[in-house]
Amino acid sequence: MTDFIPVNAPLLDGNEKKYLLECIETGWISSEGPFVKKFEQKFAARLGRKHAIAVCNGTAAIDATIEALGIGPGDEVIMPTFTIISCIAQILRNGGKPVLVDSNPLTWNMDVTQIEAKITPRTKAIMIVHTYGLPVDVDPVLDIAKRYGLKVIEDAAEMHGQTYKGKPCGSFGDISIFSFYSNKHITTGEGGMILTDDDELAEACRSLRNLCFQPHKRFVHERLGWNMRMTNMQAAVGLAQLERLDEFVERKRQMGRLYTELLKDVEGVQLPLAKTDYAENVYWVYGVILDESLRIDAEEAMKRLANVGVGTRPFFYPMHQQPVLKKMGLFENETYPVAERMYQRGFYIPSGLNMTLDQIYQVAERFTALIKSPL
Ligand SMILES: *Cc1c(COP(=O)(O)O)cnc(C)c1O
Repeated sequence: MTDFIPVNAPLLDGNEKKYLLECIETGWISSEGPFVKKFEQKFAARLGRKHAIAVCNGTAAIDATIEALGIGPGDEVIMPTFTIISCIAQILRNGGKPVLVDSNPLTWNMDVTQIEAKITPRTKAIMIVHTYGLPVDVDPVLDIAKRYGLKVIEDAAEMHGQTYKGKPCGSFGDISIFSFYSNKHITTGEGGMILTDDDELAEACRSLRNLCFQPHKRFVHERLGWNMRMTNMQAAVGLAQLERLDEFVERKRQMGRLYTELLKDVEGVQLPLAKTDYAENVYWVYGVILDESLRIDAEEAMKRLANVGVGTRPFFYPMHQQPVLKKMGLFENETYPVAERMYQRGFYIPSGLNMTLDQIYQVAERFTALIKSPL
């Protein structure tokens, strides 16, 4: 069989080894080590934010955000149905009510024109989730949030190095978050970051990350937190990765452009938009959506691509269809046809930073062969 091309593998050939060795040689391996602060400072500076709080993963960053904003029983948060479960879990644990909107079929991001109609007196926040490589159309969301006095939560987990109208993604939310999971543009293995300009929210997140220990009475607690601390070793890797962010974004764009060039004439396949009025795609992943005119759906195509050595991942399964949430009685009789179709017909093909251009040609060739003669 041909060599298997994994859907993602990270690139770790910068200062990662050197900084990690420093952790081991100095004995600073816990969250107390100096790389954590350095990574936070560099990250905040890059995004022009006042505070950056490093945590153990992106999901934890969202959990802390929801708690810090005081989203509680009956509070409504408007968010896309097409996203990862991480976005919704803490809202529900806190007794809040997620209110969903469908996706834009071209950008694959939340359809911001559906937000305003979903606002009620209980609406507390809008959560935007930049998806797969293009940002949400942020300006209309900020405008609505301002007019109705709502908080904006920005999930920029997939958007390292991306901008919206020239301003960095991760700079738009009252709180914004990133993930550094190994398939993101920059990685710490597992890791996350919370960003805000608000001193009180920053203090709350720092405290929640560290079990709400109190400075003067360490083991006396006024509030329940978590241990969400990032280790010095993770931050060491993160710092080395951050040094190369611009290079990584350029590389991803080069890969995305090459895929589009190679696949643009394959009939019945929707490719990612190269750009919108407000941003150029950073291709966090390279997604494809198969038209109904093709006789195979995403699941079948992924199976057959695996057989010819091409790793893939399905698109998100919409929140309103999640078994765990249906069992809770949520989203009964709600349908969001764009997101449902994206899951049925969409998936992404390999685009890790460690890929060679030759591998891109091979994936494109195997993909094209499959689509042209699916049986
Ligand atoms: C990856 C991701 C997360 C979760 O991050 P983890 O570090 O894996 O917990 C959250 N939101 C989005 C949009 C993501 O892509």
